[in-house]
Amino acid sequence: MGLALTGFTIFSCIMQSQGAPEQEIPANPRARLCVTVYVFNSVRIPARDLINAEMLAARIFEKAGIRIAWKAGLTTHDVDTPPMGENWNPADLQIRIRKGSTVRGAGVTSVAMGFILTMEKNDAVVLFDEIKNRAAMMNVDPTVPLGVTMAHEMGHLLLQSATHSLTGVMKPRWLAKDLVAAERGSLTFSREEGRSLQNGIMQRAAAQTR
Ligand SMILES: [Zn+2]
Repeated sequence: MGLALTGFTIFSCIMQSQGAPEQEIPANPRARLCVTVYVFNSVRIPARDLINAEMLAARIFEKAGIRIAWKAGLTTHDVDTPPMGENWNPADLQIRIRKGSTVRGAGVTSVAMGFILTMEKNDAVVLFDEIKNRAAMMNVDPTVPLGVTMAHEMGHLLLQSATHSLTGVMKPRWLAKDLVAAERGSLTFSREEGRSLQNGIMQRAAAQTR
């Protein structure tokens, strides 16, 4: 029982090489941009809650013209171990949902809700106990800050940047009103961030087909 079947693939990324003439061109070219994300649910968040968080994060990316395909990752492996799957490729992202107590000494402050493990392996951690604490303080459902934190860390990985913004998903920390906006679907990446995200994904796809 190594697999945590608490996330599922809402849809799959269909790999399409750029400019291949024999391939059907989708009606919306932006829909070609898709990212596969492995989610390691080490803290055993109930499936329904994780799916709600994933849907919220996916909606944020959809607004930037990017589709997310979620995959459940193995959770019994060490934190630094990449997922062992035949479909693994370096363009995939990894989000590890963990407890703060399991990452002490990794330079994580007690208030961090997430952090980048390695940019090279597209690997980020979100800390569910901190997220739950913050959600209780702000009187919101924890799946909202969980989804926003997942989207935020995925943003760092796709932008390959630790930079924060003054507004939106890439703010360094959120107020209750930001999470209310997230629930309503109005917490987004900036237009510029959206373009950078799209360019980054296209470059990754092009690198794979070389
Ligand atoms: Zn950040």
